[in-house]
Amino acid sequence: MPGPSRRLLILGGTAEAVALAEMLSQVPGVEIVTSLAGRTEHPHLPPGEVRRGGFGGKSGLAAFLAERNVELVVDATHPFATEIAANADVACAAAGVPLLRLARPAWERQDGDRWVEVEDAAAAASLLPGLGRRVFLTVGSRALPAFSGIADTWFLVRLIDPPKARLQLNAYEIVLGRGPFTLESERTLLARHHIDVVIAKASGGGATAAKLIAAREARIPVILLRRPVKDQGETVATPAAAFAWIRARLQS
Ligand code: NAP
Repeated sequence: MPGPSRRLLILGGTAEAVALAEMLSQVPGVEIVTSLAGRTEHPHLPPGEVRRGGFGGKSGLAAFLAERNVELVVDATHPFATEIAANADVACAAAGVPLLRLARPAWERQDGDRWVEVEDAAAAASLLPGLGRRVFLTVGSRALPAFSGIADTWFLVRLIDPPKARLQLNAYEIVLGRGPFTLESERTLLARHHIDVVIAKASGGGATAAKLIAAREARIPVILLRRPVKDQGETVATPAAAFAWIRARLQS
């Protein structure tokens, strides 16, 4: 007779979180709960249980771990999701639950890249007027207000969901899309819209890297919002490595 299920929590919202849940769904006796913040309207859903919405801070997350008898937590959130990562550090330590961070590799500058790295969207906005007038803006909806006061500039704004209200930007067009993006499609987008500068988060990983190659080929600058530092703890770079870590933990 099979033993009781072992429950794992994946803090998700990324392709890596979905890939890990897909791998774990093949393992008998393992129950996966993926948690999403609930920001996107039609998220790519992983197999297993999915819960949506915040936990209510560190204490809420710690309470969830205890109530649901969670044995392991994988923080597979986006590199720019720092609050939930910090909450996971504290809640897992308090609840005595092992935590693994699944962090996709950072991008590395290549010959020909014209990257200008900045701390945040406000810094990107203040540099922008000296760098270009036709901007491909791929920083997510929450960072857009930083660009609202910039005149004489046109923005091509890539978003996952259509905005609920008009954007507070000088002039713009919206292109909807969710990675992965191909090099061919990124080249076409830059050329068709006569883009002369790209603004992006230094998210890392493969799914959104093609725009950097397209910008290098077009010899245009990229203003990159620096990746925030998360407390590292035990960290792996791929879903396969996270899977191996989990299997070893469950067997020990
Ligand atoms: P954040 O600033 O680190 O988190 C803000 C609050 O949102 C957290 O304190 C937590 O609320 C809630 N939250 C965040 N991720 C959650 C999750 N996976 N499950 C349950 N609650 C979560 O996060 P964010 O940057 O807004 O990102 C939100 C989500 O979108 C994350 O899951 C992330 O993986 C995904 N995402 C983010 C980006 C980005 O650029 N930031 C890009 C792509 C995907 P409580 O304190 O109430 O628990």
